[in-house]
Amino acid sequence: MLKNINVEILLGFLEESYANTFKRVKKNPSIIFGVFLHDPFLEKRPRELSLTSVLDYEASENVATLWCIATGGVRMEDMALQAAERDFTLYVRKLAIDNNWKIEHGPEKMILTCPYCNARYTYLAEEVKGSFADSTKCQNCGRLFRPE
Ligand SMILES: [Zn+2]
Repeated sequence: MLKNINVEILLGFLEESYANTFKRVKKNPSIIFGVFLHDPFLEKRPRELSLTSVLDYEASENVATLWCIATGGVRMEDMALQAAERDFTLYVRKLAIDNNWKIEHGPEKMILTCPYCNARYTYLAEEVKGSFADSTKCQNCGRLFRPE
């Protein structure tokens, strides 16, 4: 979560750096909601990796929440997906620091990859540590697997 921000700067960053395949932004005086898709390899190997980011901005509190998840084709290594997500976080963090925005972390999230079908999902870490700990049911193929 980012507080005390200039949302136009954040929006400009997302549109310029993280929206080369799709962008939809809805604005009204109280909220801004944006969905952006980005393929970092578009020029070389299109549709290899897609980074989806979502912006949810509340004007009355001047607070923005950002999510980002990378998904990839069959050839894409898990490491590359994680690296793309980490880069996104680093760039947003740098933008926040450069502009004196306040950074607050929401609940810790974990991204799990199903070992059978390679589908990736985001879970709250506390879910994974609690009842999910022994086995998690894949939301795509329905098989059970143990989170690492
Ligand atoms: Zn699965």
